[in-house]
Amino acid sequence: MKPFDHYTPQNLPEALELLAQMNGRAYVNAGGTDLILKMKAGFLQPEAIINIKRLPELQGITYDETGLTLGALTTLWDLTRAAVIHEHYPVLAHAAGLMASEQIRSFATVGGNLCNASPSADLAPPLMVLEGTAVITHQNGVRELPLADFFHGPGQSALEPGELLQAIHLPPPAGQTVYLKHSPRAYMDIAVVGAAVRLLLDDGVCREARIVLGAVAPVPLRVRAAEGVLEGYGVDDGRIAQAAQIAADACSPIDDVRGSAWYRQRMVEVLTRRGLESLVSSKKSDTIV
Ligand SMILES: Cc1cc2nc3c(=O)[nH]c(=O)nc-3n(C[C@H](O)[C@H](O)[C@H](O)COP(=O)(O)OP(=O)(O)OC[C@H]3O[C@@H](n4cnc5c(N)ncnc54)[C@H](O)[C@@H]3O)c2cc1C
Repeated sequence: MKPFDHYTPQNLPEALELLAQMNGRAYVNAGGTDLILKMKAGFLQPEAIINIKRLPELQGITYDETGLTLGALTTLWDLTRAAVIHEHYPVLAHAAGLMASEQIRSFATVGGNLCNASPSADLAPPLMVLEGTAVITHQNGVRELPLADFFHGPGQSALEPGELLQAIHLPPPAGQTVYLKHSPRAYMDIAVVGAAVRLLLDDGVCREARIVLGAVAPVPLRVRAAEGVLEGYGVDDGRIAQAAQIAADACSPIDDVRGSAWYRQRMVEVLTRRGLESLVSSKKSDTIV
């Protein structure tokens, strides 16, 4: 690994000042579970690392009538344990629990998972179907961006030099949400396909549908056309099959050692269908994950 400078700012203004001074030549380190591996492999050779772990402004989970705010430094472990997550957004506890190992989960952060901008990032699809917004901070102020616009390509996010992801905000939960992940190994494996589905049903009629796929396109993929065949209709087997097929047709997966493009597309159809079926068959207040 090439030598680098290491800074540990104690608060957000100090961190933003350092980021501005470094003007794109520094990387921030949250849990380090992606960053340090890339540095060791020589993919990244930053001049400096800015350790943000101690920034109080990026910590904490709060819930009120406006919804949920997850500080960017919320760890996966926090997500699996927090009572407020289990009560209002159980899909997040479930998705985090499917990731990595207990050791990694105690370091890895929500912000790192999103800012790393991997197409297979497990938290991206559930946070997107829950209508998440990125709260992005800079020396000149704060801007908010729907997560749907946050991902620009593999490893590329909407963050500009000098910006930090401060938090993710979610509106109050509407309907029920499920996240299904398929990977060759049961543990410690990234998704070959991920599918998050949210349905808001009213007397059997779908008022709102959200479907976001992971690991099958350069960015987490919202499939509006599949949502469109559900919204306003009773969700029966025919509509579920139609939506699942549209989702499979919409994705553009790659071939790699972990799965062929053909296989990934078939698995999108399977996971989308299973996700929809599980939501339709559940009782209204069931905790679906
Ligand atoms: C063994 C192993 C298993 C894994 N399994 C999974 C898995 O199943 N699913 C999955 O999705 N991922 C998995 N990962 C990847 C990784 O653990 C997660 O993506 C994790 O959430 C990254 O968080 P972090 O805090 O460690 O990020 P870091 O490594 O600290 O940062 C990642 C990137 O984001 C940037 N960054 C971090 N925080 C911010 C911020 N607040 N503002 C701006 N930029 C920021 C960093 O500069 C860096 O470029 C695995 C990793 C390992 C090593």
